[in-house]
Amino acid sequence: MKRYIVFLKQVPRSTKVEIDAVTHTLKRSSALTQTNPDDLYALQAALDLKRDTGAEVVAVSMGPASAEDVLREALQRGADRAILLSSPAFAGSDTWCTSTVLAAAVRKVGDFDLLFFGRMAVDGDTAQVGPEVAGQLDIPQVTSLVALEGISENHLRACRRAGTVIQHLETELPCAVMVSRENGMLACPTLSGWRYAWKQEIVRWDETDLNLDSSAVGLHASPTKVVSTFVPCQGKSLRWLANAEELRLAIISEI
Ligand code: FAD
Repeated sequence: MKRYIVFLKQVPRSTKVEIDAVTHTLKRSSALTQTNPDDLYALQAALDLKRDTGAEVVAVSMGPASAEDVLREALQRGADRAILLSSPAFAGSDTWCTSTVLAAAVRKVGDFDLLFFGRMAVDGDTAQVGPEVAGQLDIPQVTSLVALEGISENHLRACRRAGTVIQHLETELPCAVMVSRENGMLACPTLSGWRYAWKQEIVRWDETDLNLDSSAVGLHASPTKVVSTFVPCQGKSLRWLANAEELRLAIISEI
């Protein structure tokens, strides 16, 4: 049976989120949260493909205990099982350390055909995690996915956006795909999905389960150091010009 692993991140619902003054990371406990929007489309793409292939869909999230909410939502929408990667050792991870933890989880899950990521998380905004996990696992990746066109035993056909052109490509399995809101529509969760979700146990793995050295993950192991975070000041200096001659003189004085 094929297996698809979908990665979902819990993100703040609003842009008004407090930043920890010492670590410069988001104070997630103070924010209302939601599932990262792109990740729901990644899940939907996996579920649509599951309809044709009968695959198992595994939902995975790394985060605090509250991240169970995004996994329950994934189960409601049709995922078969869910795994939360949670430990104080993972806190403050940048994209590289996040990818290290997610890649270790993929290895522990075992055989898989496709990894589904959202294109970008709305709080970190880097769009690095999917490509980094593919890199750490040394598998091909399809970024900026437009559509999945077909899957066989060993290959995936897909089309992706590359700037202003659309590329049709075929790649070997296993591979990773990065999905965004442009990719289709979300189905509504069903009542039977709700019932299923509340009965399922969400498995928890920490660094010991993942066979990871705790010094290789988390804030201190992260190569990216966020030194400060601020809202850019959008001051405008507006000057009304009476005619084209004034505009010409203004341009000359700027050069
Ligand atoms: P993206 O790469 O945008 O996420 C892509 C996809 O990967 C998601 O849609 C999802 O499918 C999957 N994914 C990502 N995280 C998880 C998760 N925890 N669980 C499950 N799936 C996941 N880190 C940097 O490396 N460089 C920076 O410049 C940087 N700047 C930051 C600035 C601020 C203000 C803050 C608060 C954090 C910053 N970070 C940065 C840390 C960054 O938010 C985290 O590292 C985060 O875990 C991953 O990056 P991202 O949110 O950009 O994910």
